[in-house]
Amino acid sequence: MATSRTGTAKYKAWRTRTLHAAQQQGITHCPCKANCTHHAGRRCNVWLDYVVSRRPNSAEPDHIVPHALGGRETRDNGAVLCRRCNQSVGDKTTNRQRRTKQTVPTIRFGRAT
Ligand SMILES: [Zn+2]
Ligand SMILES: [Zn+2]
Repeated sequence: MATSRTGTAKYKAWRTRTLHAAQQQGITHCPCKANCTHHAGRRCNVWLDYVVSRRPNSAEPDHIVPHALGGRETRDNGAVLCRRCNQSVGDKTTNRQRRTKQTVPTIRFGRAT
């Protein structure tokens, strides 16, 4: 907990830069197309709140190349996602990694809606 990656100055600077870039690109809705549990099989497309954080639709930065695969807090490795999508990144990372090697069963644990 004390070593949280998201608490570092480096992360915060990267977060600010990534969100700023996304706003400049005119990204107003979550572009996530991953297999997140809350929008499986569809685009997320929720309106992104760049002002208020910690809301389900708050804009948050995502690592394009996951940290687990060597992705860093660089200008090229940030993409915006809504908070709900960002919070399922752990799952997605595992999913992405597995997908390149073998077929992943689509049945997942998680709250059904
Ligand atoms: Zn989303
Ligand atoms: Zn998503």
